[in-house]
Amino acid sequence: MPLNLWDQSALDKSADPLDECVYGSRLLGKDPSLVLHGGGNTSVKIKYKDVTGKELDAIYIKGSGWDLATIERAGFAALPLSRLLELLELESLSDREMMRELSAARFDDSMPQPSVEALLHAFLPFKAIQHSHADVILALTNTPNGDEYIKQIFGNRVLIVQYVMPGFDLARKLYQSWEQDSTPNTLGIVLMNHGLFSFGETTQQAYLNHLELINQAEVFVKNILPKASDSKTLVSKKSDAQDFAALRRKISAAAGRPMIVKRECDASIMEFVKRPDLSEIAKRGPLTPDHVIRTKRIPLVGQDVDNYSLEYLKYFERNHSRSQEPLQILDGAPRILLDPQLGMLAVGTSAKDANIAGDIYRHTVDVVTLCQDYLGGWQALPEELIFDVEYWELEQAKIKRYSSRPSLEGQVSFVTGAASGIGKACALELMARGSAVIAVDQSARVSEVISNPNWYGVVADVTDQSSVQQAIVTGIERFGGIDIAVIAAGIFGKTERISELNSDGWRKVMAVNTDAVVDLMSSLHPLLKVSPVYGRVVVIGSKNVEAPGLGAVAYSVSKAATTQIARIAALEWAQDRIRVNVVHPDAVFDTGLWTEETISARAKSYNLSVDDYKSRNLLRQEIRSEHVGKLVAELCGPAFIATTGAQISIDGGNDRTI
Ligand code: ZN
Repeated sequence: MPLNLWDQSALDKSADPLDECVYGSRLLGKDPSLVLHGGGNTSVKIKYKDVTGKELDAIYIKGSGWDLATIERAGFAALPLSRLLELLELESLSDREMMRELSAARFDDSMPQPSVEALLHAFLPFKAIQHSHADVILALTNTPNGDEYIKQIFGNRVLIVQYVMPGFDLARKLYQSWEQDSTPNTLGIVLMNHGLFSFGETTQQAYLNHLELINQAEVFVKNILPKASDSKTLVSKKSDAQDFAALRRKISAAAGRPMIVKRECDASIMEFVKRPDLSEIAKRGPLTPDHVIRTKRIPLVGQDVDNYSLEYLKYFERNHSRSQEPLQILDGAPRILLDPQLGMLAVGTSAKDANIAGDIYRHTVDVVTLCQDYLGGWQALPEELIFDVEYWELEQAKIKRYSSRPSLEGQVSFVTGAASGIGKACALELMARGSAVIAVDQSARVSEVISNPNWYGVVADVTDQSSVQQAIVTGIERFGGIDIAVIAAGIFGKTERISELNSDGWRKVMAVNTDAVVDLMSSLHPLLKVSPVYGRVVVIGSKNVEAPGLGAVAYSVSKAATTQIARIAALEWAQDRIRVNVVHPDAVFDTGLWTEETISARAKSYNLSVDDYKSRNLLRQEIRSEHVGKLVAELCGPAFIATTGAQISIDGGNDRTI
């Protein structure tokens, strides 16, 4: 049950009503039972001083693309109230026209595009408004007796409005029912299958009213629920990494591009997917039409991706004539897959999108269970109304903007030695090009390199097969498969001549730089083989392969052996269309192998300045980790589609190797 979190002392003495609105929006936004990922909106009506110094009646409304949980003042767009009220007097207006008018009406075009629900906020005769998609309201209204429940709980304190798609028509409908049916007692508006509006003279009042209504609904539901019983522990089948990766390949094929697939299988998910009526209740529809953009209308129950795509096509064919404009069909890949053995798989073009789909469905699971088991049955809106939102003209317009996707979006890279130096630079560069990264290192720092849903840091020692296996399995559960492997973990060992060789030192270097590489490549092959975009491997070699150094026998030999492993893999795996290439860097000084002191000592011994020493090569070009990272990422991209078994130097030119 949401608690009143309003703390006046959190607001500055000088806070104005927009600051209060920002604060109240965040309180609403950070409760996932009220608002999920960009859902909901808020507004406040205050004066706007324009360039002439005139103070005009204005509304500050949440900008689209902003999340209530993290919104700032800059996340609101200010518009003249009079203009919005004028628009509301129109008999009809397409949503595209409405958005054009709202956009043009902003006082300042550097402000964000106003929320699609702006008109609806404009006419409500209150200074502050809050709107959520609360789970409890969705639960009560997605049942056969939804209207009855709402009347029983709230009496005449809320206005009930039957579902209409958000946009101009909803604003008009609400405008009319407000004029006819609101009373001085009206505290809020329940939009069936959509959410709740509350209002007040201040944001604090609107927020308190919101909580009051939500809490009343929750008490009602709580009284219907049986007392909590011990929940059963349901165990999911351990997913086989290769089967899982093969399933991702099918999903990606249906989507027409590589997709991230995340598995969730905790007790509440397992309880849901093992319901005998799963197939039937899961296929009724989403909690609210908005969700269709993230989860599609229904999940795939089981693993038959092809059949899901076929059914999706039929759904499109049944409904596309609802639009006057020709529609571009969206891909037929599921975004949620429910399987009694595996649990839930959430799918997206990035880890962030997969997480959002998963979060939304988690709430769906709770609400559907509540409706079906305790509120008289789960009932979703008919498919044509969901279709209207999925193929809304403004959503269709977004498709055109997708043309410039990052080159490695939806792909998954497995990078060793990713906490520092060349490995880290490769991992970050792959991520910058859109790839999700399973970043492996023996240092715990690997988890802290960057905070991003596309980054999964795993601590593992590459010489310990079981810990590497664990990294692969957990990485696959997180992202669904592996498309790219960059093998960068390596050690230099002690500088010693063969005549004084310490065999333990030799073995250690061989274990990390060679044995671990062949083991890892052997483990990764079955996964790379089922990559939806054909696997790629880049092995970090060394200039020493071609130009060995005195006293570096273990290092030079290990890198030469590893180069040979890569070349043989290129031969063996070409039939699987897996490309394997080697990069030979030299004198990359911004890695863990070098400190400022050793660099200046070396420079001194050559009688060179540090800068001259760092660029001691034919091109006189200093080589940094990021240069290697860019080369490696490029090798994994389309420019090198026909290159395998190659060895590329990145050493500024060396007269011993040219
Ligand atoms: Zn809404």
